Amino acid sequence: MAGQSYEELLERIRALSGVRVRELGRVGEYPIFAVEQGSDPQQPTALIMGGTHGDEPAGPAAVLEFCRRGSGSWLEAFNFLALPCLNPHGYARGTRHNAQDVDINWAYKRDDVPEIQVMRQLVAGRHFAFVVDFHEDWESPGFYLYELHRNVAPVGARIMETVSHICPLNTHPVIEGQRARGGVIIPTAQKHEELRGEGIPVVLYGHHTDHLLTTETPTALPLAQRVRAQLAALEVVVEAHLP
Ligand SMILES: [Zn+2]
Repeated sequence: MAGQSYEELLERIRALSGVRVRELGRVGEYPIFAVEQGSDPQQPTALIMGGTHGDEPAGPAAVLEFCRRGSGSWLEAFNFLALPCLNPHGYARGTRHNAQDVDINWAYKRDDVPEIQVMRQLVAGRHFAFVVDFHEDWESPGFYLYELHRNVAPVGARIMETVSHICPLNTHPVIEGQRARGGVIIPTAQKHEELRGEGIPVVLYGHHTDHLLTTETPTALPLAQRVRAQLAALEVVVEAHLP
């Protein structure tokens, strides 16, 4: 797909109000930013991220829209750490991979990937109440998600119900080679073992959160519809975690 303007994305980040913007590092000429809301150290923090794959623009768009709207009363329960775009090079060129032709999402063990350095520094020593990682799928006819959870009730089915009012769902029994139920993939222990330590989602779930959702919008649909679907999914997760 055609790349997006990273400069325009940066302008939208700079235009945010009521948030703290922090440069995490640089990949070549591109800075990577985090956007933080809420600052109560007594409260848990949630991590919302997008743009790990450069050709999945609804992720960054949804993270930015989430930051633009502000979290309102949610801030009485949570701080939010948002990472709009982990892969600026891919975003600017419309490629899944980064400038090294690496799939960042599955390169956590590599020491020579600048985006992974940024990610490691961002999460070091931290535990998140939940993580929502926005992705997209060019081949999927509809929305689906991956859910990893321990000590918390799963919310995947509720997300699917909510998103069904916004866009089509992918309800195939096998998605991306894994068994799915109603569009929800809960990776098997075997699959998890296979990927252990290699992937951002696996590491985040292994060390930094008890609840991780990877949401996948169908890239063929209009961007605004995909952003609505991502934000609706996020809302279900946040509401489920409210005290
Ligand atoms: Zn992706």
